[in-house]
Amino acid sequence: MAFGHQREDSRLILLREISQEGRIPRIDLAERTGISRATVTTITADLLRDGLIEEIPREDGAAGTRGRPRVDLKIAGAAHLVAGVKVSGSRISLVLMDFEGSQMAEHEVPLGAGRHSPEALAGYIGDAVAALAAKIGTKTAQISGVGVGLAGTIDAGAGAVHWSPSLNARNVDFAAMLTERMGVPTYLDNDANLVAMAEKTFGLGRGRSDFIVVTIEAGVGMGIILGGEIYRGTRGCGAEFGHTKVQLEGALCRCGQRGCLEAYVAEYALLREADTALGPDTSLSGQIARLLGAAEAGDPTAASIVSRAGRMFAMGLANIVNIFDPELIILAGEQMQFDYLYAEEVIAEMRKSIVQVDAAPPEVVIHKWGNLMWARGAAAYALEFVQERAAREGRVDAA
Ligand SMILES: [Zn+2]
Repeated sequence: MAFGHQREDSRLILLREISQEGRIPRIDLAERTGISRATVTTITADLLRDGLIEEIPREDGAAGTRGRPRVDLKIAGAAHLVAGVKVSGSRISLVLMDFEGSQMAEHEVPLGAGRHSPEALAGYIGDAVAALAAKIGTKTAQISGVGVGLAGTIDAGAGAVHWSPSLNARNVDFAAMLTERMGVPTYLDNDANLVAMAEKTFGLGRGRSDFIVVTIEAGVGMGIILGGEIYRGTRGCGAEFGHTKVQLEGALCRCGQRGCLEAYVAEYALLREADTALGPDTSLSGQIARLLGAAEAGDPTAASIVSRAGRMFAMGLANIVNIFDPELIILAGEQMQFDYLYAEEVIAEMRKSIVQVDAAPPEVVIHKWGNLMWARGAAAYALEFVQERAAREGRVDAA
């Protein structure tokens, strides 16, 4: 039994190593993983037979002993398909990846604003995944895992949503509901965690072990990578940066509490202020643009709203730095309208409020990308589970 477990572990370690490297000679695997050469030979033979990896001729074309071409190992892309889904306030964005992590298809569907019943949202996601699969002429049933990112407080381990701005109910076993609706194992996480996952796997966090991602869209989110892993907290409520308090008895937040960072910097907060200062506008994005335009043109009320949002954001960032001392902070968002939060003054204000030592302050980088990157993070998350399952399933008779 113990031997069986060890074998599964080694299969997973080798799969992950090959996946990370893209293509790697068999001999390097032993060196990198500390697994003996003999075991690497046995296990890679198993993985080849299971169709999870394949041999490809070495790029330099070098010949080995007895004139056979030398080969590298790579993941067999065709072994599995995974889908990544990001639910935002106005749309569902999806990507389909193969087992190697290559993107096979992308899809986007509009989503009605506001909160949805869990059944309705599960239905929309299920339909969108089916449409995604159809893009490469396949069906949902051929997908091995689906990762879904939602805003809100998510217990990733339990697949439960404590609260989400997309759902009209609390404490929903949403992963189970999606798994049943689609007939494919579905994995749920907070969307900001999935952005951190995407940054770690494909983005600016590659090769970094301790960094923080702050996401700015409708709300403010945060993903924490510590020692190369996502830090989630014990109730799945970690990293609620948007609901850290920046003002005693301050503005009312949509979470029901007062003085949260989001109540000053999120889109809805700015809209509320803009309506008061400039009068209502029928278009939401138009109203934000009007507010930013008025601030730039020197309107004192508009300027003070925008500048206060920037200072509140700087205070929030400084608190993060003072707690975590990360090597890197990635400000990730897609909308240009949040540029005022990325401004040099805001970063400078943050640097003034952090503990001062004779060492460089953390690097702050801005990474603008669209919903598909969030969806890619969701797919990368699902891929980890599919790899685990593939490592476990294999051929039991061989153990
Ligand atoms: Zn709040």
